[in-house]
Amino acid sequence: MKISQTQLDLVNNRIQALLKADSFYGKKLAAAGIDHVETAEDFAKLPFSEKKDLRDAYPLGLMTAPEEEIVRIHSSSGTTGTPVIIPYTQKDVDDWGEMFKRCYEVAGITNMDRIQITPGYGLWTAGIGFQNGCEKLGAMAVPMGPGNTEKQLEMMQALKTTVICSTSSYALLLAEEIEKRGIKENIHLKKGVIGSERWSDKMRENIANSLGIELYDIYGLTEIYGPGIGISCEYNEGMHYWDDYLYIEVIDPKTGENVPDGELGELVITTLVKEGAPLIRYRTHDLSRIIPGKCKCGRCYPRIDVIMGRTDDMMKIKGVNVFPSQIEEVLGKFDEISSEYQIRISHLEGKDTMRIYVESTGDVDFASLSKRIAEKVKSKIGFTPIVKVVEVGVLPRSTKKTARVIDERFD
Ligand code: ZN
Repeated sequence: MKISQTQLDLVNNRIQALLKADSFYGKKLAAAGIDHVETAEDFAKLPFSEKKDLRDAYPLGLMTAPEEEIVRIHSSSGTTGTPVIIPYTQKDVDDWGEMFKRCYEVAGITNMDRIQITPGYGLWTAGIGFQNGCEKLGAMAVPMGPGNTEKQLEMMQALKTTVICSTSSYALLLAEEIEKRGIKENIHLKKGVIGSERWSDKMRENIANSLGIELYDIYGLTEIYGPGIGISCEYNEGMHYWDDYLYIEVIDPKTGENVPDGELGELVITTLVKEGAPLIRYRTHDLSRIIPGKCKCGRCYPRIDVIMGRTDDMMKIKGVNVFPSQIEEVLGKFDEISSEYQIRISHLEGKDTMRIYVESTGDVDFASLSKRIAEKVKSKIGFTPIVKVVEVGVLPRSTKKTARVIDERFD
């Protein structure tokens, strides 16, 4: 999706703020001799920002507004140990709340709802983000935080909460507990707002059916405000995001080039009005795509697909970028096979080969099934894999996702 003139003006405004503050990215821009962008082509040449930069800026190198305007910080912990610290001005907090309010509104939530918030409160952006939006909307927040299922269920019944905000795994756990205790008739939930981690359609159906509620995927990351920068609507065809606050592009994670709308790649986000820590072309490593065209709901906000994984999982086979989630999606459409699979990539006689092992019971014709799967995979990724159907139970069971893809090319 091409950057608009309005968005370009806002980017220029942020570039000026960064330069003036001489913050971490201000220095970088100055060193690169960048003080404005004229066109979409100029914009596409701006350097990316990375999580590593954000760590290098620890603790407050990203701070771009004067200290007296900073009202709080949030932090995301990293695997390397050095956390990322993001400063917020009052306007940033308000903008974030406004975006989150929109999310609730898209989900049909009103000021008459009672919203039970189970994500954590504290340094990270989760709980407090849900809370902010809830208060902006005028709904009643029930700020539970995570865990303590006993207490969660008690409050859920006593207060007749109508909305649950949680991760998909916690929503599933709550659904199971409600079932187990036979307290379904005391539960008044109508909707669930679920943090956008990758979850299967099966799990989604499971939660929706067992609680009898509508589910919405919400997206966000600490570096860019937090949760609430996008949400799915009643048609559940991707998530709308707020293009007056953010510009989102999708790149090929290997080359850094923009991919056409509709194609899978890495989400790169630019904040258009953020003051405390503006980010330009921030690489999220989240895998998704822009959904072209207008949504059936008629809302003018553009859409990204639900997050399909991390770009680190990407494989390059026969010169084509392939993500395990693409294969998984195709396999999920075949009722004849189990949920286990294995992908093996090898290099034989000068050619890359992809073999997909799936499991089925003995009552189907393995040969015709493997042919049908191979055809469907080809239409998804562009080349034909070798599909081998084996008896259920043959493939190794593992909770680790990595064990499902084996790249033998570099052995
Ligand atoms: Zn929509």
